[in-house]
Amino acid sequence: MSLNKPRIHTETVRLELKHIWTISGGSADFKENVLVHYERDGLAGIGEAAHLTVGEHTAEKTVQAIERLVPFYETVDPFAFAGLPDQARQIADATPPARAAVEMALLDWVGRKWKLPLYRLFGLDAGRAPATSFSIGLDTPEMMQRKVKEAGAYHIIKVKLGRPNDHEIIKTLRAVTDKPIRVDANEGWPDKETAIKKIEGLEKQNIEFVEQPLPRKMIEETGWLRERTRMPIVADESVFTAQDIPAVAGAFSGINIKLMKAGGMLEALRMFQVARALNLDTMLGCMIETSVAITAAVHLQSLARWVDLDGNLLLNCDPFQGATMNDGRWQPPDSPGLGVQAAPSRPH
Ligand code: MG
Repeated sequence: MSLNKPRIHTETVRLELKHIWTISGGSADFKENVLVHYERDGLAGIGEAAHLTVGEHTAEKTVQAIERLVPFYETVDPFAFAGLPDQARQIADATPPARAAVEMALLDWVGRKWKLPLYRLFGLDAGRAPATSFSIGLDTPEMMQRKVKEAGAYHIIKVKLGRPNDHEIIKTLRAVTDKPIRVDANEGWPDKETAIKKIEGLEKQNIEFVEQPLPRKMIEETGWLRERTRMPIVADESVFTAQDIPAVAGAFSGINIKLMKAGGMLEALRMFQVARALNLDTMLGCMIETSVAITAAVHLQSLARWVDLDGNLLLNCDPFQGATMNDGRWQPPDSPGLGVQAAPSRPH
């Protein structure tokens, strides 16, 4: 098939949040994400990069990394996409969200060209849709209780801990809900002795699992925790790509796969396979993202045991529409590619 050269360009978008977002690492009231447009033969694909909260990532650096990837993606055969992530990694290894965004735009375009939704392109089952958790950001007890009540449509609550008053926070939430709660410590417990005390307190509170209790390098210490609790312990900051999984397999019972850490949908697919081979549970998570990147993840959700896709729900105004929510579960669009379109409110 002969194709014209693609036009690949970026657009930085400022996203206001509904509430100030606080985790153990800091607070924010807006995010700047970068969109990638892949235009070719009258069809346009779209992708999104949400930069990571670790390291020196900014929208500007993401754009620079995307610009390094563009000459490569201009010359490759888009239909032979399976081998592209490893080559892209050699160009922009340190900036996985940039790789995720360009690949997402290319895959969206391929899906549109072949008139297939991406979940079909990957041979996945749209019928299996685990309920997503909904995150409650740290706040005053009154505000957190209000947020839980506002989250009535969701079956599972996720809360960010990693502070001295963790136990009070859970008690505050338990006063207004008996839904399962997932806990994310975001590396916030400094040592294994602190962490096991926290976990023992949580064991009586119907907590589904605890995510990243200790700093990312403390793999051995996490294994020590695992021997002392039946609560599943899920790796987030300790695992970015498939290569990181074998090292954590003994210490954690599951991994949190995110497109922005993995560097794209194709590496995320590989991570599901590697995790399965190593008997690890899988969770599909996200950053604060618009419906572009959330929908990309929803196309893969049938592979995950736990779904935690709420980044777009935390935005004041999502500029896009894609995956739809039904009884606390995401449904991928049935239209070709990602199936995402601009929201009516998005300026042209
Ligand atoms: Mg996490």
